[in-house]
Amino acid sequence: MNSVNEQPETGITPGGTSGAFRDVLSKDHARRGKPPLHFADMSDDERIAKAEEIGLPKFRVKQLANHYYGHFDIDAEEFSDFPAARRADAAETFFPELIHEVTRQVADEGETIKTLWRLFDGSLIESVLMRYPTRTTLCISSQVGCGMGCPFCATGQLGLTRNMSAGEIVEQVRVAAKAMRDGDVAGGPGRLSNIVFMGMGEPMGNYRSVLSAVRQISAMPPEGFGISARNITVSTVGVVPGIRKLAAEGIPVRLAVSLHAPSDELRDELVPMNKRFNTTQVLDAAHDYYLATKRRVSIEYALMRGINDQAEHARLLAKRLNHYGDDWAHVNPIPLNPIEGSKWTASKPEDERRFLEILRNAGITATLRDTRGQDIDGACGQLAAKERD
Ligand code: SF4
Repeated sequence: MNSVNEQPETGITPGGTSGAFRDVLSKDHARRGKPPLHFADMSDDERIAKAEEIGLPKFRVKQLANHYYGHFDIDAEEFSDFPAARRADAAETFFPELIHEVTRQVADEGETIKTLWRLFDGSLIESVLMRYPTRTTLCISSQVGCGMGCPFCATGQLGLTRNMSAGEIVEQVRVAAKAMRDGDVAGGPGRLSNIVFMGMGEPMGNYRSVLSAVRQISAMPPEGFGISARNITVSTVGVVPGIRKLAAEGIPVRLAVSLHAPSDELRDELVPMNKRFNTTQVLDAAHDYYLATKRRVSIEYALMRGINDQAEHARLLAKRLNHYGDDWAHVNPIPLNPIEGSKWTASKPEDERRFLEILRNAGITATLRDTRGQDIDGACGQLAAKERD
């Protein structure tokens, strides 16, 4: 029996700092406490109890939910349906500031915005908003740093500092949704339509908070922001118990698996997590996810020059995916964004083209992923949360 069977829950931490990902914590981890409790962290009963503590009747909680999820408001001044004397109290109790904007970098003529946020304990995280003609996508972080240690990835070099709370995750979405509604993004007022958990962190490493955030993002107001679950993508490096647990939730979110290599030999080197859950286990789980949700799984594949981008890799990838049948997966080869001081570099364009061609000839749908935000280090694997001058 292997270690996976002995520890079926390996890889899912209930939140906080315990569990299987403790192994790659950053050095200053110990001094950090918990983020302030926020409306988005509380159950309905907890909200009602909290309201009672400050002398507010139950129905005020519903009004607050309307402000928060329906109108993206947390400012006391906006609570016009509240007695003037109670507004500040309510805002302070339920909406402590969880993410504070440090810097904002803009690219693609204002249609890509990368924001660096400081959390209550000084931790830095990032989110990236990308506006396209028919949709607007926000890429959000779910952990401070990442404990997966992929050697080609800027975030991986940081190690894991801590899990983010549900409130910290949801706040990234609220602020972006408000900015879109208010016309603060180039292109005028619009609607935030898509969310991808592809910023800092391994979402399955912070399962409980991520799932709570998914529910709050997808529920209709006043329970959530009303962004369809079908437009939410949860990515994972291949934490198999997390994939299986998510499949059982019955929420039709899209799953994205960062595969990056078609064989265990190569993937062991590129994605250390492969030693815990190998390519067969990961692909089995991904295919089961497809069967359970009927959502096509995205296979993310960062193309690295001379390492995983050759014809033999494309052929093996196609073979392994076709083993499970047709049309269940969509491959997104991503040109690697080289990070400073790294030996990993982006593929040659002709190798990229050949890689795609081989997949397509084998009947696999494949699209070269957009590298929006590359000039502001905002594309995949580049979120290093550096504070700039
Ligand atoms: S590639 Fe993804 S899983 Fe790997 S270290 Fe980077 S953020 Fe973590």
